[in-house]
Amino acid sequence: MEAARIITGLPIFTNTEYLYRETGWERLEERRTRRKLQLCYNIQNGSTPSYLLDLIPPTIQSTTIYPLRNGNDIIVPFCRLSLTRDSFVSATVREWNNLNLSVRNLDTLSKFKKAIRSSISMPIPRHYSYGPRKLNIILTQLRCNASFLNYDLCKVKILSNASCNCGAPCENSHHFFFDCDKYTDNREIIFNSLNWLPSNINIDVNLLTKGSDLLTYVENITIFKHAFKYIKDSKRFTIV
Ligand SMILES: [Zn+2]
Repeated sequence: MEAARIITGLPIFTNTEYLYRETGWERLEERRTRRKLQLCYNIQNGSTPSYLLDLIPPTIQSTTIYPLRNGNDIIVPFCRLSLTRDSFVSATVREWNNLNLSVRNLDTLSKFKKAIRSSISMPIPRHYSYGPRKLNIILTQLRCNASFLNYDLCKVKILSNASCNCGAPCENSHHFFFDCDKYTDNREIIFNSLNWLPSNINIDVNLLTKGSDLLTYVENITIFKHAFKYIKDSKRFTIV
């Protein structure tokens, strides 16, 4: 998973990664890995025809009398070519060996599927679904830079001018939350309300629209409550 840099405790994702994080969709690569591991689990537990079990190499421990730390790993077949290295058996054995032993030894397929799904896929932050629906949608649009602010509309050619009514040349999420003269009073309220945040957490657009992985669920929804109030009190968006 390519969660790129970390700045002030917040992972910085590319636009595609944002989409996956918002929707909880699984990448094709992750889906292939998960299916291969599930088949490997079934093979190991005798739920498939025996000719499939014959394809899987023995464990390292079965080749020696000495106890080894990686004795439960399956021997990775030697591959001279990348073509064979990426083949089912070789690739699956490598993925299987990377799993924790506790996951490999789970007693049912459903527990195994649940464990590998949470370890492979990026979960949607629970606080993303918090709050009144309309305000939650607006905050999501601001988070994804796909809002009704003039800069976002200008990006998709709906408007030709990204400037704000206050005279600033660019009405984007940062300007809306932190710079626009029209919302100075609302901004003061939100800053005063967030003075409990630890010093390593910066109050910025990322924090107001995404929360932080360093904070608890309750702390994140508290931030979202203030962001919702700011959005509502600003009257910048139509909230029916
Ligand atoms: Zn403005």
